[in-house]
Amino acid sequence: QAKHAGRNTSRFFTPELAHQLSERLDCENDLRDALEREEFEVFYQPQLMIDSDELMGLEALLRWRHPAKGLVSPAIFIPILEEVGLIDAVGEWVIRQVCRQHRAWQTKGLRPPRVAVNVSGRQFLHAGFAETVARILAEEGQPANSLELEITETVLARDTAQCIETLQALKGLGLEIALDDFGTGYSSLSYLKRFPIDTIKLDRSFVSECDTKEEDAAICAAIISLGRTLGLKTVAEGVEQEGQRDFLRKEGCLSYQGFLFSPAVPEHELMALLSERAAGSRDRGH
Ligand code: C2E
Ligand code: MG
Ligand code: MG
Ligand code: MG
Repeated sequence: QAKHAGRNTSRFFTPELAHQLSERLDCENDLRDALEREEFEVFYQPQLMIDSDELMGLEALLRWRHPAKGLVSPAIFIPILEEVGLIDAVGEWVIRQVCRQHRAWQTKGLRPPRVAVNVSGRQFLHAGFAETVARILAEEGQPANSLELEITETVLARDTAQCIETLQALKGLGLEIALDDFGTGYSSLSYLKRFPIDTIKLDRSFVSECDTKEEDAAICAAIISLGRTLGLKTVAEGVEQEGQRDFLRKEGCLSYQGFLFSPAVPEHELMALLSERAAGSRDRGH
């Protein structure tokens, strides 16, 4: 009976639910003005070669600095942006911002690596996405190989003509494609054969205990081995401890990102890292 009652009570409009709903509506309303008010900011997380810690890429991670609430997690506001139809506008802003940043670094004589931008499922599957990316690159005067796009398996699961067309158009432009959170969605290994993917990203949920749990170790090893066999790059996400990095290196993972090296940081904090990189390559005579 208690179970039945519990199920029923959850349908009542409780004060707690009312509070959640009003928070959510506030959030929606605030998000509508966030672009205009310049409350969004792009942070960058370094991706390193696992053998040498050489910088091989950066992942752009969106931040929303709410005037009252402070930094709001994208895990909260990205789904809302998708639902209220603002994801295209914000997604385009992120790509443009990354292009401008890339250019600014080059102008300073730095040698920025490729930057990976997360693309939401809805944004990716909207007709004209590839054309939009091409237009932004052209307007900002950036080559396509300065960008990589991260999508998830959920997008590929739709397996629509639109999806394949978009992927091929993006590949045609010269962009690289990474499969984010690999192994957590509706995974189908055949995606790796059917779609032009360059990189698979091992999800943090497998990485976080890869050096202590047999199952997670086996999953990481299998994904890395699969990636190598298929000629794909492998990036481990959320590497926090040396033990994890050691295990992944031993298994032949190509690269990693995570708190062990650095969290996502604002642009100005990255400068030192990029300067080192520029100096390093000058020393090697490039
Ligand atoms: P994701 O793309 O899988 O990004 C990885 C998340 O793990 C990021 O969270 C990152 O800050 C966090 N992370 C990195 N290293 C570590 C670590 O060592 N330990 C732990 N605990 N976490 C780590 P974040 O920045 O909160 O982003 C969450 C998700 O929001 C992202 O997951 C991505 O799906 C989405 N997102 C972020 N920026 C954008 C964007 O510009 N557009 C879209 N569509 N989605 C975005
Ligand atoms: Mg990502
Ligand atoms: Mg991920
Ligand atoms: Mg993730």
